[in-house]
Amino acid sequence: MPERSESDSRKLLKRLRDSLAEPGQGQERLNRVTHLIADSMLTEVCSIYLFRDAGTLELCATEGLLAESVHQTRLRLGEGLVGRVARTAVPVNTANAPSEKGFRFMPETGEEIYSSFLGVPIQRVGEKLGVLVVQSKAARQFSDDEVYALEVVAMVLAEMTELGAFLGDGAALGALHKQPVMFRGTTGQEGTAEGQVWLHEARVVVTNPVADDPEVELTRIRAAVGELRVSVDDLLAAQSLDKEQKKVLEAYRMFAHSRGWLRRMEEDIQAGLSAEAAVEKEQSATRARLSQVPDAYLRDRLHDLDDLSNRLLRILTGQGRDTGAALPENPVLVARNIGPAELLEYGRSLRGVVLSEGSVGSHAAIVARALAIPLVIHAEGVVVQALNGDAILVDGDQGIVHLRPEESVAAAFRDKIAMQTQAQLRYADLRDKPAQSLDGQKISLQMNAGLMADLPSLESSGADGVGLFRTELQFLIRNKMPKRDELARLYARVMDAAKGRRVAFRTLDIGSDKVLPYMKPQDEPNPAMGWRAIRVGLDKPGVLQMQAQALIRAAAGRPLSIMFPFIAEYEEYLDARAYVMAQVKREADLGHPTPETLEIGAMLETPSLAFAPLDFFKATDFLSIGGNDLKQFFFAADRENERVRRRYDSLNASFLGLIRQIIARCDEAGTTLSFCGEDAGRPIEAVCFAAIGLRSLSMRPASIGPVKSLIRRTDLAALRAVIDAECAKGSVSVRPAVMEFLAEQAK
Ligand code: PEP
Ligand code: MG
Repeated sequence: MPERSESDSRKLLKRLRDSLAEPGQGQERLNRVTHLIADSMLTEVCSIYLFRDAGTLELCATEGLLAESVHQTRLRLGEGLVGRVARTAVPVNTANAPSEKGFRFMPETGEEIYSSFLGVPIQRVGEKLGVLVVQSKAARQFSDDEVYALEVVAMVLAEMTELGAFLGDGAALGALHKQPVMFRGTTGQEGTAEGQVWLHEARVVVTNPVADDPEVELTRIRAAVGELRVSVDDLLAAQSLDKEQKKVLEAYRMFAHSRGWLRRMEEDIQAGLSAEAAVEKEQSATRARLSQVPDAYLRDRLHDLDDLSNRLLRILTGQGRDTGAALPENPVLVARNIGPAELLEYGRSLRGVVLSEGSVGSHAAIVARALAIPLVIHAEGVVVQALNGDAILVDGDQGIVHLRPEESVAAAFRDKIAMQTQAQLRYADLRDKPAQSLDGQKISLQMNAGLMADLPSLESSGADGVGLFRTELQFLIRNKMPKRDELARLYARVMDAAKGRRVAFRTLDIGSDKVLPYMKPQDEPNPAMGWRAIRVGLDKPGVLQMQAQALIRAAAGRPLSIMFPFIAEYEEYLDARAYVMAQVKREADLGHPTPETLEIGAMLETPSLAFAPLDFFKATDFLSIGGNDLKQFFFAADRENERVRRRYDSLNASFLGLIRQIIARCDEAGTTLSFCGEDAGRPIEAVCFAAIGLRSLSMRPASIGPVKSLIRRTDLAALRAVIDAECAKGSVSVRPAVMEFLAEQAK
C-alpha cells in the first residue's frame, strides 16, 4: 500500500469541496463523499455514521457496505467500534476488527469480509456529530499519515454539516438541526417556560474549511496569532494584578506564545485545511482532552487554551460575540455555561435558561433562582442541537427540555403552564389572608432574597418580610470587592423597598462553591466543610467589619437584623457579634446614627449547634435553620451531588427529631426560630414543620402561595398527632402517613 503524501491529502480535500459545491440533495452529496474518500484512501469501504439523537448513531451513507443497511443500521453510543469512537472521540485503528474488544457484528451491512478498520470522530469544536469509517479486506494497520488525513477530512465534513451542505431529503446530516429533541437534565430552578432559543455564544461560522492556497492561509494564521499575542500582552500589562492573578495570566500568555500550538495549526493547513478550520481542529482536540483530565489545575489550563482558540477564531473571521441579532420575543438562553454577571445582564428578559454543564450550586444557578427564571442544567448536547430562534420548552420542575417540540408535546406543555397560571391566580387571592391553620395557628411566611430585583415580590407574594437576604450575590456578580458606601446604598434601598418589614441580612457566605472571582481560590479537599462563611469572616474580619458598617449606615436609625452563616459553636457567634457591636460603637463615636433596634442572630446549619449550651440559645436574638446545609451535614449527603442529594427524606423521623430538639431549646431560651432552607417552600414539608412547632418559614416568593394555601386547609394539631404516632411507631419517614392524612383531609 503506497504511503500518502501531503499533497494527496490536499487533493482529496479539494475534490471533496468541489464535489460538495455541485448541485444535489443531501443524500446524494453524502453518497458522493463516501465514494470519493474510499477512492482516495484506496479502501473498499467508506461509511458515515451520524447521531440520530444524543445516544444513537445511524449509518447515513456508505461506499462498499450493503446499500440496504443505510438508514437501517443503528448503534448505541459506546456500542461496537463505531460507538466507541463516538463515545471517546479517539480514533480506532485496527488490522483485525472482529478480534477487537467490543466489536459488534452487523450482518445487514455485509462488513464481515473487511478486516481493517479505521474510524475517526466527526466533531466540530468538541461537539460530536458522528463517525467516519474506512475499511478494507487486507489486514493492515493504517499509517499515522492516513489517520491524520482521515481526521482532516472528518473536520471538513463537520464544517460542511454546519453550513447545511447535507440538508435536503430528510434523513441525512441536516437532521441534526431539524428534528424534535428531548433533553433530560437536572432541575436548577423550578418553573416552566416556552420561548425561542437564544445562544449565549454566537456560533462562529466557517464558510470555507478547505484552503485554496496554503501559503495564503499560513500568512493569515501567523498574522492572527501575532495579533492575539499582542492583545494578551496588553491584557497583562493593563491590569493591576496580585501575584496569584498574575500567575494565572502568565500561564495564559504562555499558551498564546506556544510554538507547538502554532506548529500544529500550520501542519493542519499544509494538509489542506483553511486557517479557521485548523484552529477548530486543534480546539476540538483540546476539548476532547478537557473531558478526560481529572486534575482541576490542568483543566483550567485547557480552558485557557479553549478560550484562546475562540479569540483566534474571532480575529480570523471578524465575527464577534455581538452578532447584532436582536433577542427573540421570549428568549430562552442556551449555553454550555454562563457566569453570574452575564446572566444578570440579561436579567428578567429571559424566560428560561438551559445549560449543558453547570451545577446546582453554581453562581449562575444562584442568580437564576434569585431571578426566578426556570433553569435546567446538565442538558447534554443542547448547544450542538439548538439554533437561534428554535422553539424550545423548558420544564424546570422535571429538568426536561424539548427542542423543536412536536405540536402534541407543545400542547400538553401549554396545558401544564395554564394550570400553573390558574393556580397562581388562586394563590393571588390569598395574598392578603393570613397563613392561619384550620385549628387557628398563625404561621409567619417570609421570603428569601438576594438581589434588589427580588424586592417587588414582597408585595406580590404577600410575604411578611425577608427571612433571609443572601448578601453574597452582590459580591459574586462583581469582578472586584464592592466598596462600603456602594453596599450601604444598596442595603438602604433594600430596606426602603421592604417598607418597614423586617429584613434579616445574612453576612457573607462565601467559600465552598461560592468563590469570589477576585479572591485567591483555596484548593481545599472538601470545600463545603472547609474555610467558608463565618470561618472566613472571623479569620479575615476586614470584610465582616466593612459589611457591618455598611448595614449600620444603611439602617440610618431604623431597626436592623443581622445573622451569621454557618456558626458551628457558641464562641464563633460571640466573636462575630463582638465585631458587629464594635462597629456600632464606632459609628456612635463618629456621631452617625445607630440602629433603632438591633437583632443579631445565627443560621443553624451544623448539627453541632443544636447541641450548643443553653447559653448560646439565650445569647442569640434569633435563629434560622439553614435546612439545606443542616440536612447535608446531618445525613452526610452532599447537597450538590445528584447521586445522593435526594437520597434522604426531609420528613425522615430522625431529621424531624433534630428540628424538634432545636425548637424545644429555643422555646426554653425564649429565642425566635425560623426555617429558611429550600424545604420551607415545599408545601408538605412546610405544614409538617409548622405542625411540630415552627412558627416562621422563609422561602422563595413563588412558594408562599402554595404553602399558605395548604396551611389554611390543615388542622396542624391533628397533623402533629399523626407525626407523633409515626415517630413513636419507629417509622423511618413520616411522609406516607402524612400524605394519607392530607388526602383524607382534602376529601
Ligand atoms: C441553607 O443552607 O439552608 C441556606 C438557606 O443557606 P444557603 O442555601 O445559602 O447555603
Ligand atoms: Mg447554608
